[in-house]
Amino acid sequence: MASVNSLISDIQKLSVSQQEQLLSYLEELLVLGTQVGQVTQEVKEFRFAKGKICPHCSAETVSRNGRYKGKQRYICKSCNKTFTDFTNSATYKSKKTLDKWLKYAKCMIAGYSIRKSAKIVEINIATSFFWRHKILDCIRSFFGVGSVEGVIEADEVFFAESFKGTKPSKMPRKSRERGKQIKKRGISNEQVCIATAIDRQGNLIMELLCRGRMTHQEIERLYDGRVGDNSIFCTDSHKSYVQFAKDCSLEHKRIQRGKHKEGIYHIQHINAVHSKLKKWMNKFNGVATKYISNYLYWFKWLQLFETDKEVVKIKNFMVQCNVAHAYTRITDFKEREPIFI
Ligand SMILES: [Zn+2]
Repeated sequence: MASVNSLISDIQKLSVSQQEQLLSYLEELLVLGTQVGQVTQEVKEFRFAKGKICPHCSAETVSRNGRYKGKQRYICKSCNKTFTDFTNSATYKSKKTLDKWLKYAKCMIAGYSIRKSAKIVEINIATSFFWRHKILDCIRSFFGVGSVEGVIEADEVFFAESFKGTKPSKMPRKSRERGKQIKKRGISNEQVCIATAIDRQGNLIMELLCRGRMTHQEIERLYDGRVGDNSIFCTDSHKSYVQFAKDCSLEHKRIQRGKHKEGIYHIQHINAVHSKLKKWMNKFNGVATKYISNYLYWFKWLQLFETDKEVVKIKNFMVQCNVAHAYTRITDFKEREPIFI
């Protein structure tokens, strides 16, 4: 076996670019290695934050039960079922090791395509697709819809309804075009409405609301119980918000088109988020409506953690998608329907 000293003398003979290649290999090896340990520990702490509770029946009669494939296994004395820290998480039942998932998380944070991520992580393309959505199902469950308070900017954005990936026999109507984003003028039921709200702390609500134009009942369904007391809603002149604000006794500032500056009340932040979202979604060449909620949460995640360091992002992304109990079986993807809030 080569000694470190002889390795070093070999390394010195390498070209600068070869040395750089080696450095990134070592970084990945060492960083991924530490991250696997960190993720495992943090997932355990998160999941057992309220004590050792069974994920199947919520009983507190949990004890250790040996190890299974390198993971601590537990048994519940109430329901007799066993589980690990990763039961029903994104990586549950995966035959691949956590370091591969961490590499995959890195690809998702970079916004790589399914194909490119598959190549980097050395998994097949179908697996890459399932991993993306298993992860996002968990992220969605981990976050929940969220809430906003104080000065709130709200608006909506439309995308063409898309049946991409749906079998022709199961399609409600003929597919027209790829699901690209459509301008607000001429809203029809062939478009889906995404309702968004952001507050000045950066809390963001972003949900698939309905087909076509939204009604005040739909706005209420989304925001009821998710808006802090004494909040002030800033919107454009859409009349549904007027009724909504009245029904929920919220102060309402209507910002006229083209008039974005009325002191502290404006909708510039939400407009900026929308243009960012549209630009980001364009990269994916039309997103199937049944997956659009997942893309919204992916975007939301990137927004919320934008300023974190990359290593921290990767670790937290992996922790969060393993803390959530939102395992999606591959057969569930075949039956999938759009998730209207
Ligand atoms: Zn149990």
